[in-house]
Amino acid sequence: MFLAELVEALGADAVSTGEAIAPRHRTDWSGVSPALPLALLRPRNTGQVSAALRLCTKHGVPVVPQGGLTGLAGGAVPRPDAVALSLDRMNAIESIDVAASTMTVQAGATLQAVHEAAAAKGLLFGVDLGARGSCQIGGNLATNAGGNGVLQFGMMREQTLGLEAVLADGRVLPMMRPMQKNNTGYDLKQLFIGAEGTLGVITRAVLRLHPLPRTRATMLVALPTFDAALELLGRLHARFSGSVSAFELMWRDFVAASLKWQSLREPFDDVHPFIVLTEISGSNEAALAAALEEELGSAMEAGLVLDAAIAQSQAQARSFWKIREATAELPTNMHPPLNFDVSLPMADIGRFAAACRAALDARWPGNISVFFGHIGDSNLHLSTDMSTVDGSEHDVEAIVYGEVEKFSGSVSAEHGIGLHKKPWLGVSRTPDELEAMRSIKLALDPLGLMNPGKVFD
Ligand code: FAD
Repeated sequence: MFLAELVEALGADAVSTGEAIAPRHRTDWSGVSPALPLALLRPRNTGQVSAALRLCTKHGVPVVPQGGLTGLAGGAVPRPDAVALSLDRMNAIESIDVAASTMTVQAGATLQAVHEAAAAKGLLFGVDLGARGSCQIGGNLATNAGGNGVLQFGMMREQTLGLEAVLADGRVLPMMRPMQKNNTGYDLKQLFIGAEGTLGVITRAVLRLHPLPRTRATMLVALPTFDAALELLGRLHARFSGSVSAFELMWRDFVAASLKWQSLREPFDDVHPFIVLTEISGSNEAALAAALEEELGSAMEAGLVLDAAIAQSQAQARSFWKIREATAELPTNMHPPLNFDVSLPMADIGRFAAACRAALDARWPGNISVFFGHIGDSNLHLSTDMSTVDGSEHDVEAIVYGEVEKFSGSVSAEHGIGLHKKPWLGVSRTPDELEAMRSIKLALDPLGLMNPGKVFD
């Protein structure tokens, strides 16, 4: 009955079941708990999403929204009693307003398509990340994705002027007014950003765009201490206000692993405790290079910088990024990696990393753990090779999240809670905060049909 009504509302080609559902819809990038959903729905427009959700409410069937399935927390993993609702057919770039620097898109547009459409008009979208070819704007919004560019432009939340969302009972909230200034009560769209599909389905968005930079300088800078890195960041912000687009700090353990895994040469003559990859955008190449050399020279005199190299070509800039992008090598070289995505008050990141390292070494001498982070965004990643640890994932998590709690940090900086981090949500949220979240969930989704079991039970 339920399936027949779905077919009648959406058309037979938008509803598949059993083996007709492609394997990719059974889990996300994390590969956690694969399951065959009751049905896979592939609506073509907001009206069809609304019709599908109305029927799910009528029959009490849960809904798991699916974007590009690149999530790392298990948020889009389906379950046998739920329909998976994929936005992949709703992928239109509807319009670009060059004068206002805005773009209106459907939620299933890939991040890459958004970048390409913006660049074709001389504009830039402020969020970029490694999964750009597959992840969708709806998924980026539902996870409030960060990635490269947060330092300059902020996360998805800051890139969003308007949003259209469909509630579990099928009602459409058309919050698409493209104005920055709109103080008319609660900013409802923000509730759906970062909610991981637990409050409704995001169907369209109005995104903010920025001018494409004319030039960009990429540097590797060797530093003696974490605090020197923070001081350098402060100096760069002061000198190149609003133009520091990357500040990726790599601890020695990460650099050593990256060079080994990718058979790369040491970037400097000496081995240094920290290397930061930083990028500054500007409008005049020669003026930017001169200002950078002056700033780095002054930082060197102050003892903040041990060595530095400014990329002289695109190829050299790419070779600098290759050291940082060893994250793609983690699954091949750690067996398996246990990855953390935490955030901490910026000034505490160095002490947190040292405390974590000491606690892991005390429990498992010789364990391989590597540290790196978008430290300008207060975001630290660490990965532990589980084959070097005589314990469970839970044991390692207890140590790392124990330190996160001591430093008043967050167990998820950008990947979300999904299924993976549910047991640890209480580390970063008080009981009252969790109760307030549950009240919002109950108000918008009283039957608990939207992505049940994700974020919190
Ligand atoms: P999915 O994985 O399909 O879904 C993610 C969550 O969003 C699920 O809870 C799902 O139910 C919900 N959802 C999806 N679409 C909708 C919708 N339309 N309405 C409501 N809910 C929806 N993340 C970062 O933040 N920064 C990074 O730098 C980063 N780098 C990555 C690099 C790689 C190689 C990979 C594989 C992942 C990376 N990620 C990163 C994680 C991931 O790409 C992001 O979380 C991304 O935003 C997920 O988008 P998606 O479309 O794949 O969503």
